[in-house]
Amino acid sequence: MSFNVAIDGPAGAGKSTVAKAVAAERNYIYVDTGAMYRAMALYFLREGTDKSDEAAVSRACKHVEVTISYEDGAQQVLLNGENVSGLIRTEEVGNMASATSGYLPVREKLVELQKNLAKRADVVMDGRDIGTCVLPDADVKVYLTASSLVRAKRRYKELVEKGVACDLSEIEKDIIDRDYRDMHREHSPLVQAEDAVYLDSSDMTLKEVVDSILNMIDKKRGV
Ligand code: C5P
Repeated sequence: MSFNVAIDGPAGAGKSTVAKAVAAERNYIYVDTGAMYRAMALYFLREGTDKSDEAAVSRACKHVEVTISYEDGAQQVLLNGENVSGLIRTEEVGNMASATSGYLPVREKLVELQKNLAKRADVVMDGRDIGTCVLPDADVKVYLTASSLVRAKRRYKELVEKGVACDLSEIEKDIIDRDYRDMHREHSPLVQAEDAVYLDSSDMTLKEVVDSILNMIDKKRGV
């Protein structure tokens, strides 16, 4: 049986950084499920699919195959065979992903892929519905969050370091809007699983968050 760690939480809570570090420490595979929704979103953007037209998005889904592979341990996302990992980190793609991830045909396609990955290997998987829907029997479940301002400041810093002009209050507004959509959608909304450990990282260092998850893993494994 594989060992599964589920990390859920809102946008910008640091899930991917934390999940990557935990996976590297324990030699597990890191699965970034947001990247899969982003790859689908890139397809919809390229096709000019109207994100508010559920029927059009559902039709477009039939032409999309998302797969993942690993290069030097780093997850690569393939969209109909094309490696799009370098193209999916924009705000435009993130917003399209958030707008379309609520549609059932989008979710069904990706959840199946995610479940299969977790069956085959020890994984740390991050997303919005991992502990509630994708891996309800995960060995360790964490709900990682931080205040919207802290999350916006982290994102702002990242963008400034990349030389991208941006506005902190706009970023925070975007984060709040995205949280609202993710938490209030009909299918698999973002909620804390009953048996997930709540971690607010607003006043924690990365190392403190990672160490606390490593402790949960060790406890579960009886190490
Ligand atoms: O985590 P990331 O920002 O890359 O995710 C992009 C979008 O994909 C999220 O805003 C959310 O709407 C969607 N998503 C989801 N379920 C997941 C992971 C991501 O609905 N497991």
